Amino acid sequence: MTPKISQFLSQKNPSTPCLVVDIDEVELRYRAMQAALPAARIYYAVKANPARPLLDRLVFLGSCFDAASWEEVDLCLSAGARPENISFGNTVKKVSAIKAAYDAGVRLFVFDCVEELEKLARFAPGSRVYCRLLVNNHGAEWPLSRKFGTTPESARTLMLRARELGLDPYGISFHVGSQQLSADAYEVAIAQAGSLLADLAADGLRLRMVNLGGGFPIQYRDDVPGIAHFGQVISRAMKIHFGETLPEILVEPGRFIVGSAGVVSTEVVLVSQRGRDEGPRWVYLDIGRFGGLAETEGEAIRYMIRTARDGEEVSSVALAGPTCDGADILYEKSCYTLPVTLEAGDRVEILATGAYVSTYCSTRFNGFAPLAEHYI
Ligand SMILES: *Cc1c(COP(=O)(O)O)cnc(C)c1O
Repeated sequence: MTPKISQFLSQKNPSTPCLVVDIDEVELRYRAMQAALPAARIYYAVKANPARPLLDRLVFLGSCFDAASWEEVDLCLSAGARPENISFGNTVKKVSAIKAAYDAGVRLFVFDCVEELEKLARFAPGSRVYCRLLVNNHGAEWPLSRKFGTTPESARTLMLRARELGLDPYGISFHVGSQQLSADAYEVAIAQAGSLLADLAADGLRLRMVNLGGGFPIQYRDDVPGIAHFGQVISRAMKIHFGETLPEILVEPGRFIVGSAGVVSTEVVLVSQRGRDEGPRWVYLDIGRFGGLAETEGEAIRYMIRTARDGEEVSSVALAGPTCDGADILYEKSCYTLPVTLEAGDRVEILATGAYVSTYCSTRFNGFAPLAEHYI
């Protein structure tokens, strides 16, 4: 937690649950990413957190943006981003969204199949397009399954088709899965992109760009490799697989830029042994799966939890949210412990919750208000 956030929480005592994001920390993270990958252009993945103060700061810093819908494109534009700095990075786009983005001046679009390519040729004629490869998400704590991306063989055919359709075949992208702990995942994907670009060059088509996607991890409960390590592995892999004539490099970090800049402040609603001698105490917080902590699904993302009683004796707990849904459990298997004196009314802070929390919040399930947000 940054000093600014702890000062805000102690002085303002905002009602819970709420998310507090330190915008200066976002800037530090952006600059750390730039330093680790100086050759890459940063397209912030808006879906991680689309709050206006955050977009304003990123526009000020010269960031580009990866948008997944017309609504996200529009948010970036209204924050002052120029259309040429926006990539429409969702492989699944409504025709109305393609049209609206094109009319607003966006000229960079992703696709992963011929049907979407034909939509782009018709409704975004002449645009730069890049094809998304399906790559292994092994090592990612929040993988993207097989929903997106295509094979290198099909990408090769599709890029040649893009040229026939009057589009500008620009590059290749991939996403190695979110909260990716292994830099090797990038290396393997870069190797695939390298041989695909070489094959296409042999076909007489020279692509100019490789988009490495997002996935860069942040520290939750367990340690992760630092961004400098990812920078080194990626830079080396790019040199090995592309030689001296490097293509333009794009990255689309979301979690890395904003995750560790946010803290959720929550209140303990109930602590109970539930009549059992054995087993953990159950600790119910005023935020759960439906209040924004959706990435606790399968206990995939294990947040760090702070209380005012840290340092006292602890015992094991199960953690759950406040709703009447049986799925609203945060952690039962991940061996969480909390102070034995913890009681209803205590405040508890959930760290590194700046990404993929505010937008995952449900709308008034059980009547609970949406997560309040403070950008400081
Ligand atoms: C979600 C997403 C990102 C951001 O991923 P992070 O793991 O948050 O860095 C980047 N690119 C695309 C296409 C995405 O869908």
